[in-house]
Amino acid sequence: MNDLCFACLDCKAYIDSGYRWCYWILEDLGIVKQGQSISIPAVLAATVYWRGGEDAEWLAVLLPKVKVFLEHHQDHALLYGETLTFPVMLEDDADTRWMEWLDEEGTSITTPREFRVFLGCTNWDQIMAQVLNRQQKDRPWWWSDTPAVKQVQAYFQS
Ligand SMILES: [Zn+2]
Repeated sequence: MNDLCFACLDCKAYIDSGYRWCYWILEDLGIVKQGQSISIPAVLAATVYWRGGEDAEWLAVLLPKVKVFLEHHQDHALLYGETLTFPVMLEDDADTRWMEWLDEEGTSITTPREFRVFLGCTNWDQIMAQVLNRQQKDRPWWWSDTPAVKQVQAYFQS
């Protein structure tokens, strides 16, 4: 199982939905289905899901953010699924859609848009400085992918 999240197709933004917690509760109850649009009232009414923070510190931090996300994007096209369901990574060399996606939680700053929004990077040199400043394991996946590096360079040169 990969990362499960709620994604707004209009804003190209997404947020972690709580991994196994979401899987066990919302999927098991049939409230959400992977790869399908969601009913916000149904998710907001799933009180068991929202109580996840009572037993887990990380859910106590995450779930209020999820709620804000759902409320903020309630009139938009929302999808539930793995990050692979929508393009947050390079799918082919010509596909540049992944660069505009934003993880609203801001935990792993990876895409050019995240570098711009969270770190204020406006050119390639700033991105490179940020990436080189990180430990190898914390560098974005695209750093070792030549076509993706070229895409990011082009993104900041246009
Ligand atoms: Zn939206």
